Amino acid sequence: MTTDNADIANKPAPQRPLAVMLFGAPGSGKGTTGKMLAKLTGWPHLATGDLLREQIARKTPLGLEMQSILASGKLAPDDLVSRMVWDRLGWPDCENGFLLDGFPRTIPQAEGLAHWFQGRLFRPVLIHLWVEYNEILRRLTGRRICPACGAIYHLESSPTRAAGVCDNDGTALTIRADDQEEVILQRLRTYQSQTWPVAETLRTHGVLVEAIDCGEMDPESVADRIVWRLDRIAGSIAKN
Ligand code: ADP
Repeated sequence: MTTDNADIANKPAPQRPLAVMLFGAPGSGKGTTGKMLAKLTGWPHLATGDLLREQIARKTPLGLEMQSILASGKLAPDDLVSRMVWDRLGWPDCENGFLLDGFPRTIPQAEGLAHWFQGRLFRPVLIHLWVEYNEILRRLTGRRICPACGAIYHLESSPTRAAGVCDNDGTALTIRADDQEEVILQRLRTYQSQTWPVAETLRTHGVLVEAIDCGEMDPESVADRIVWRLDRIAGSIAKN
């Protein structure tokens, strides 16, 4: 951890808690980075993809409805995902700041979130993780996950010690249903058409947009850089 990371981890919460939105194409590293940031900051990491997959694993009525949508690479309905998020943001662990991963992903979700921020103290910051298209394809096709603990591996860049099983608990790794090649292409199309415009919409609502070029960087360096930027933002808020 750099000195800057230590600063943000040990510092009392800024006057206006940060609401951080991790934004980027599928495979840009939102999930991995989000987990690291949660450790560094103590803020909850709220990933809508994980929340939806949890419902599917538990076979709840919502999960049963969502299963085929996720497997096709299309987006879950806005009202449903938004309700799930508003509910989660009301938990007390979000009061000092939170990390949203995979939300908002459409213009209606972005408008809804901008509305949610109105009259609340949070300082919203969108962190745009930039990764080049071919690198995204490489990452998504080699991704393997542990169904038990959620650890994320990659066949080439972060392999397990023993092939095919999780380093943490020895569970056999799986490929996410939506990491099949045709589905990956569908997810990237969905991203271009529906999610890409979200950053601009939020900017027009006064959200601070910070881009990080992270194609060449390992996940720890990306997380370090984000913490450094957030520390700057939190510091400038504290002076206001
Ligand atoms: P990735 O960013 O790699 O596509 P996620 O885990 O964030 O992976 O999302 C997986 C799937 O969950 C998406 O393809 C979509 O079907 C669904 N999903 C996640 N977040 C949202 C959202 N905000 N709105 C609608 N659907 C979502």
